[in-house]
Amino acid sequence: MIRFFNTLSGKTEEFRPLQEKEKEVGMYTCGPTVYDYAHIGNFRAFIFEDLLRRFLEYKGYKVKHVMNITDVDDKTIAGANREKKKLGEFTETYTRAFREDLQALNILPANYPKDQPRATQEIPAMIELIEKLVKKGTAYVNDGSVYYRVTAFPSYGKLSKKKLDKNIQGVRVDVDAYEKEDGADFALWKKAKEEEPAWDSPWGKGRPGWHIECSAMSMKYLGETFDIHAGGEDLIFPHHENEIAQSEGATGKPFVKYWLHCKFLLVNGEKMSKSKGNFYTLRDLLTKGHDPMTIRYVLLSTHYRTPLNFTLEGVKSAGEAVERLTSCYAHCLHLNVFGIGYKVKVEDLTNWNVNLCSCLPDARARIEQALENDLNISVALAEVFDALKLINFCLSKKLLEEKSLKEAIDFFKRVDRLLGLKITEQEALPPDVFKYYEQRSTFRRDPRFIKDKTLQQLADDLRAKIESLGWIVKDGRPGEPSTLQKKRRAWEKV
Ligand code: AMP
Ligand code: ZN
Repeated sequence: MIRFFNTLSGKTEEFRPLQEKEKEVGMYTCGPTVYDYAHIGNFRAFIFEDLLRRFLEYKGYKVKHVMNITDVDDKTIAGANREKKKLGEFTETYTRAFREDLQALNILPANYPKDQPRATQEIPAMIELIEKLVKKGTAYVNDGSVYYRVTAFPSYGKLSKKKLDKNIQGVRVDVDAYEKEDGADFALWKKAKEEEPAWDSPWGKGRPGWHIECSAMSMKYLGETFDIHAGGEDLIFPHHENEIAQSEGATGKPFVKYWLHCKFLLVNGEKMSKSKGNFYTLRDLLTKGHDPMTIRYVLLSTHYRTPLNFTLEGVKSAGEAVERLTSCYAHCLHLNVFGIGYKVKVEDLTNWNVNLCSCLPDARARIEQALENDLNISVALAEVFDALKLINFCLSKKLLEEKSLKEAIDFFKRVDRLLGLKITEQEALPPDVFKYYEQRSTFRRDPRFIKDKTLQQLADDLRAKIESLGWIVKDGRPGEPSTLQKKRRAWEKV
């Protein structure tokens, strides 16, 4: 049974999509506001959503995933004006950069419609929705702008659990983003101002407010009621609260079944954000030499409802974790591709009491169970690394016959479908690296090795040869296997 924490009910609930029999899921994730490069806090949200999508697909659901591009709002307009560019030209740069970053982080692109819907291309759907609200008296026109009347929607506050403060009812809020404790009437349509792009509407020239954009685009592509709406916790109020008010106010139907929000990425205990200036873009980190999969691992490996404190220490250990996975896979692949599967006797297997053909499917089942429990990635990863230890152990003791080897490769492939760490894009060990590694292991297994300087020197020479081919040998404690890790790939600017 899949269970998710639903912000709307404040509880962990069984996940039962509207099209349960057909195994179809409609999912809307709020996309980026394209006024700058996204920072890695933004990517924490996008990677949590990517894990959610990958997991549902792994479980056999067909996920219709829509993610918008916010290419008109206060920030994009201010940015374009600052750079003296047309809005479209300004936002195009950051839309393209966003897509490159998604690709670098191996985040699956939204799959419906073909191109991510852009707010500026969807104005008619927004106007239509606002007209419905005006007709119902849930919205009112004031001097060329249109506002949502929050008192007309009695359940306003049900997502964020905020109560309407009588003192601010009727107060009109025009800005797209605002930090407020309580709700107030918010702008659906903003009258044209000088130096701002404007579109024709029944209320004169103007532009949409930010919140109506997501209501209109999500319902246009997923229907009036759909399964999942996700984003970072800062979107709960006012953005998602207002989306509910707009959509349910217009249709009279429940808007979304499950609301999922991730906690912030923090730096020194504070939210990473542009306005605080405490942010890294993905590009900042990659040009420093970090591998994109390391950054993906950092953002993925903490449960989405636990705040994640970003440190360079954390990046270092994430890099090591990814390398352990990819090296082990490369090692297995090499044995498989070159047909050098170890010859083992059945007695050996029983002596060591490890049978990967039964251990790995069990491990896979436990990984799935962990993710079924509100995407518990920490438990899932602990299971992955327990399995990895077992595979490494078998490699070191030469306990891998063909069937187990195939099982191990299959394990990595399935895990990678969930984690998206490109483990299985790793190529097999180059034949020479493998040859030197095997020779070195033979020296190290020799009982004389601990005292014999000549053997030690031979092992060191082989290590140097392996390193010159781009691989690093990491020796375990005495009696434990040495593992091979590929040297970090330098990032090439996308
Ligand atoms: P924006 O481009 O500002 O509209 O934000 C895009 C996504 O990033 C939204 O889902 C935000 O909730 C999310 N977000 C922004 N800052 C952070 C942060 N520090 N940690 C996690 N998610 C964030
Ligand atoms: Zn949104």
